[in-house]
Amino acid sequence: ELTDTTSLLLSRIRDVADYPEPGVMFKDITPLLADPAAFMALTEALAGIAADTGATKVVGLEARGFILGAPVAVRAGLGFIPVRKAGKLPGATLRQAYDLEYGSAEIELHAEDLTTGDRVLIVDDVLATGGTAEAAAQLIQRAGAEVSGIAVLMELGFLGGRARLTPSLDGAPLTALLQL
Ligand code: AMP
Repeated sequence: ELTDTTSLLLSRIRDVADYPEPGVMFKDITPLLADPAAFMALTEALAGIAADTGATKVVGLEARGFILGAPVAVRAGLGFIPVRKAGKLPGATLRQAYDLEYGSAEIELHAEDLTTGDRVLIVDDVLATGGTAEAAAQLIQRAGAEVSGIAVLMELGFLGGRARLTPSLDGAPLTALLQL
């Protein structure tokens, strides 16, 4: 039984087979972003999660987490903090490496943007293996702040990201608006 919001969001996600490589079903959110009612509904839903989890800041993960997280932060009355791929932030950063299917990657955060006592909601479009979100949670904790939750539009359940993330969450909720 889908709610109106759930079916609206689902209807605005485009499946692109074999992108960016064979075997991957890419979940394209650009139709959702182009539909103001859907983008608004998504923003409201994620801002509600920010409020429910007592967040004091919103972290968005490069790049689609920026598009979703920034309006959520504004709607919830909170500051927005970008977590970027390594080498893009000009100030003093904390850096965290994580494993990919082939190789590894690094993400960074401006350390001075978070303070002890901050409760941070991590926002992204897709939770796949959970590696990116896990590294972001570690950055937030290393900065002395706490993760209030992780909120994503879609969770690809078959990749096991939720189980991987659970130890980093310390009981904070991982909320996916759509389970795919
Ligand atoms: P992961 O670290 O494996 O959870 O991957 C999450 C990141 O990769 C997110 O920032 C997503 O935007 C992106 N991503 C992974 N899988 C997909 C997919 N099937 N469709 C769209 N984006 C994806």
